[in-house]
Amino acid sequence: MKTIGLLGGMSWESTTQYYRLLNEIVRAELGGLHSAKILMYSVDFEELVALKHQGDWSEIGNLLATAAAQLEGAGAECILLATNTMHKVADAIALSTEIPLIHIADATAEEIKRQSIQRVGLLGTRFTMEESFYKDRLVQQHGLDVLVPNKEARDTIHDIIYDELCLGQIRSASRDQMRAAVSNLFESGAEAIILGCTEIGLLIGPEDSAIPLFDTTAIHANAAIYWAIESDHRIKR
Ligand code: GLU
Repeated sequence: MKTIGLLGGMSWESTTQYYRLLNEIVRAELGGLHSAKILMYSVDFEELVALKHQGDWSEIGNLLATAAAQLEGAGAECILLATNTMHKVADAIALSTEIPLIHIADATAEEIKRQSIQRVGLLGTRFTMEESFYKDRLVQQHGLDVLVPNKEARDTIHDIIYDELCLGQIRSASRDQMRAAVSNLFESGAEAIILGCTEIGLLIGPEDSAIPLFDTTAIHANAAIYWAIESDHRIKR
């Protein structure tokens, strides 16, 4: 089994989910007392959020690239960046190491295509819903059609993520707002919804949606484990 370099803390509320999922998937796949080989670098998220408010993405890229290089130096064999939004600086991170970065949007798109779904709704931070680094990748590299909520709903979802979910606050009024965003996207023609923020799965699940939900946290963790144990499986076969 290869060692995963988990670059987390953005927020730690979702990184704990990654840690649990990575280990659960290994146990399901390999049985016994097998568990995931993980090296983790967990950032102080407040420092990065402050840079985000200043629009200083190049410094965010530098900090995360340095962290990724430290993971590589410690023996990590891939980088798992445990947030959708920070994939805005995925190129800077990938350039700083020799090891692969398992891209969250690619892993998610592959899963969507496996299920022959074409048109998806995307929920996430404003960065993820509005900027090109994520949406365009789904459209141009994977051929998906991507719908996003209207401006008012995007603002609401963004605030729920940073003001509540990243702080571990789960509110039923916010769950209703998230459900409404899902059903509006369904009415606009979405066949499925990408939970394109690693904390949204803390708030809503399949019971809140009439259409399938693709939870990027779970999909990303799965992709990393299948990558990490692929060679073990090959040996077994
Ligand atoms: N975890 C979130 C995401 O998946 C947002 C936090 C961040 O800004 O990285 O996009």
